[in-house]
Order: sequence, then structure tokens, then C-alpha cells
Amino acid sequence: MRLSRYYLPVLKESPSEAQIVSHKLMLRAGMIRQEGAGIYAWLPLGLRVLKKIERIVREEQDRAGAVELLMPTIQQADLWRESGRYDAYGKEMLRIVDRSDRDMLFGPTNEEMITEIFRAGVRSYKDLPKILYHIQWKFRDEIRPRFGVMRGREFLMKDSYSFDVDGEAARRSYHKMFVAYLRTFARMGLTSIPMRADTGPIGGDLSHEFIVLAETGESAVFCDRRLLDLTTPDADIDFDGDLSPIIDRYTSYYAATEEKHDDAEFSGKTPEADRVAARGIEVGHIFYFGEKYSEPMKALVAGPDGAERPVHMGSYGVGVSRLAGALIEAHHDEAGCKWPVSVAPFHVGLVNLKPGDAAADAACAEAYAKLGAEGVEVLYDETAVRPGEKFARMDLIGLPFQLIVGPRGLADGKVEIKARSDGAREELPLDAALQSILGRVRAGLAV
Ligand code: ATP
Ligand code: MG
Repeated sequence: MRLSRYYLPVLKESPSEAQIVSHKLMLRAGMIRQEGAGIYAWLPLGLRVLKKIERIVREEQDRAGAVELLMPTIQQADLWRESGRYDAYGKEMLRIVDRSDRDMLFGPTNEEMITEIFRAGVRSYKDLPKILYHIQWKFRDEIRPRFGVMRGREFLMKDSYSFDVDGEAARRSYHKMFVAYLRTFARMGLTSIPMRADTGPIGGDLSHEFIVLAETGESAVFCDRRLLDLTTPDADIDFDGDLSPIIDRYTSYYAATEEKHDDAEFSGKTPEADRVAARGIEVGHIFYFGEKYSEPMKALVAGPDGAERPVHMGSYGVGVSRLAGALIEAHHDEAGCKWPVSVAPFHVGLVNLKPGDAAADAACAEAYAKLGAEGVEVLYDETAVRPGEKFARMDLIGLPFQLIVGPRGLADGKVEIKARSDGAREELPLDAALQSILGRVRAGLAV
């Protein structure tokens, strides 16, 4: 993409309405624009990040055996009257009346609708287990929308729903999503910690929030430092095999949100040097709730004995749009964003220091074509602004690699690579530079 043709409205000044760094940088880097309280337009650069996040989430859901569908944003109130939640949900639900005076709503979540879809198509335990998911916009009329896309009113969520014949089978589905979440966040370059969370009326141990540690996080959390060093399950893991050894490894350490925190247990289980009290961002939440919806909504399956019973369900959310903010909280410096390769809006910023100079133009054209042919995503800055401004803009938008090309370097046969993650610079002949970038982009994508 040529920058002169792109739409990248960067801001030099920090917008005063933004309180946390991710919100500031998303506005400054031209990723989003506020269109109402907690409602954002995703500008081209932000949309590319959102799509990358979505793609990783999707790939890991598919890998774990979940099946994608797409439910509408608008739902009928009658469906929610079946579960009893239409009145219970309160003011967070955006209620709408259509021209026939029918009560409608903009979905804040989809348990009712997926239960309705499931009961229309499945009758027997032989069709189980099933995990269905979609990635769809939600609306929740949050009391305090804030921190940009972190707590929006309209936001993109991946929500999955599992269906099993009994509690034991439901635990296996839960484990699949648990492991899928570990992989999902790790692939984005995030250290997420599964923390015990409130289970509501059902009780048991099957509710975890996945938390990314960050000073600006909304939740107070307590965990064992050793959790931060656990290795992520490999891509070739057998999701139909026994996942409990992996789950046990993560859940044997103490990790809880404030609501579930027990100081005596924390101290008993965790040596003082490993006790972390911090703040965190909830990027995912997994939850087993059994027959809570299947019973009132009569989503029944026949078991091996022929008797019908309500199906056991769980739900599993990921804050797809929130992750864009969480990623910046985890990866930035004073100059701007520092995107990991896997979620970067482009892999490389190609900086032409002197557009119009024949040698610089030719070298840039060659780099642009060769990298593009290898699937490397390049944003080519061939605009007529001064170099200082180009560097500041590239640092702000935070692409993992900058390839800097100017007449002076070329006279020496060299171009420069700057890695945004650590600022390391190297001068190399053009071909060597392209090989180096290609190798590092591939390595970054292979996680
Ligand atoms: P929170 O406690 O942050 O309000 P929640 O318990 O309401 O979250 P869920 O209903 O479990 O969240 O939704 C699944 C995921 O969707 C959350 O883990 C979070 O990442 C994301 N999410 C929830 N509310 C918002 C919001 N207002 N803006 C952006 N993302 C959100
Ligand atoms: Mg909420």
C-alpha cells in the first residue's frame, strides 16, 4: 500500500479525552474515530489489526473443533422472554421497537438464540458434542463506556457455545476452549493468565477469566509469578485427547480475580517472592452453566437410555475489539505502538527518504515488489514530507520493521533496517535486507 493513497489521519497531539495509553495511541495513529459514547468507527489501519485478531481467534477455534456460524445482531424479545432474561437484563440492553410494534433488541450476547438454533436441529446424544461460535458485534449500554475500545458500548466479540450430554462431557468441551484460549492469546504476543472467576448459581470450578496484566486494567488480580513462565501448548496438540494434564499445569498455581480472591489460600500456596498483586484486562471469559438455558427453553437431547434431558451448555467469550487496546497496553513505548508481527497492520514500513531521487525510487520499487511477492505486507511511505516526520509517523503506527532507503546509503550500496520492538538498526545491501526482513516476518508469523 502506498501511503499517499492510504487513509491515515495521524494526530501530533495527544487527545485530551483519552486517559490510557492504548486509547491515546489508537486515536493518534488514526486507527479509530469516536462516533458516539462507546461507539467507534474502525479506520483502515485499525481495521487491519481487528481483522488480524479475528483471524487468529477463528483459526484457534477451528483448530479446537468449534464450528463457525453467524447469528444476527438484532433479536426478538420473545426469545429472551423464554429464558426469563428479557426483564432481568436491565438497562444494559438496547431495546428497539419495529414498525409492527414488536419488541426487538440489539444482542448483548447470544445464549438464547444459540439454544433456539440448537434445539431445532439436535435431538440425540449421538450428535454431541458440539461447539458453535460466531464473531459478531454486540451492544451493551454500559454505564461507563471508557478507555476507547476497551469498554465500548458497541464491540466485537467471539462467543462460542458448547453442547454436551452431561457434566463430564461438558468439562471436556470446557478444556478444549481453555487450551484454545491459551494458544489464541499467545499467538498475539500476549501473556494471558487463566484466573478463577465467579461461577454464579451453578458453582464448581468451571469458570475462568483470561487476564492480561496491565497497570491500566480494570480488575485487581492476584497470581503466582511462575504462571508467567508456563509454555503454551503446541499447534499439533490433539484436541480430542485428554487435555487435563495441560489444564492441571495451569490451574495448580494460584490465580484469582478480586471477587474470588482468598488471601490465606494465596499465602499458603505461593512463596512470598512469587506473589503478584497487579491489575489486569479481561480479554476472555469461559463459563460452564449446565442447564440454565436448556431447561427453560426445552433444548432436550435423548441420552443412551432413550430418556430426554436438557443439554449441558457452556459459553466462551473473547473480546476481539478489546484486544486491539489490550495489545497496545502490552506493546508500546513513548513514541507509539510496537505491534507483534502476527497482529501488525502491515509488516514493514518502507521509508523513501527522498522521493523523486532516481536511485531511491528504484530501490524502493524493487523492495516493494519483492516483499509483496513473498506475501509481506508493506506500507510504502513515498510522501513528500521531511524525514523526521516520516520516522515519527512510522514509530507511532508501530509496524514491526522499517526499511529506510535514501540516496546517501544507496551510494554506499546500503539500506537500513530498524526493528520497532527494540530499536535495533542494521545497514545492509538491499537484497540482504529483504532476505533478513522476510526471515523475521516468517518467524513472527510462525508462532
Ligand atoms: P466485563 O466484566 O469486562 O464487563 P463481562 O463479564 O461482561 O466483562 P462477557 O459477557 O463474559 O464479559 O464477554 C466476553 C468478553 O467480551 C469479555 O471477556 C471482554 O473481553 C469482552 N467485553 C465485555 N464487555 C465489553 C465491552 N463493554 N467492551 C469491549 N469488550 C467487552
Ligand atoms: Mg460486562
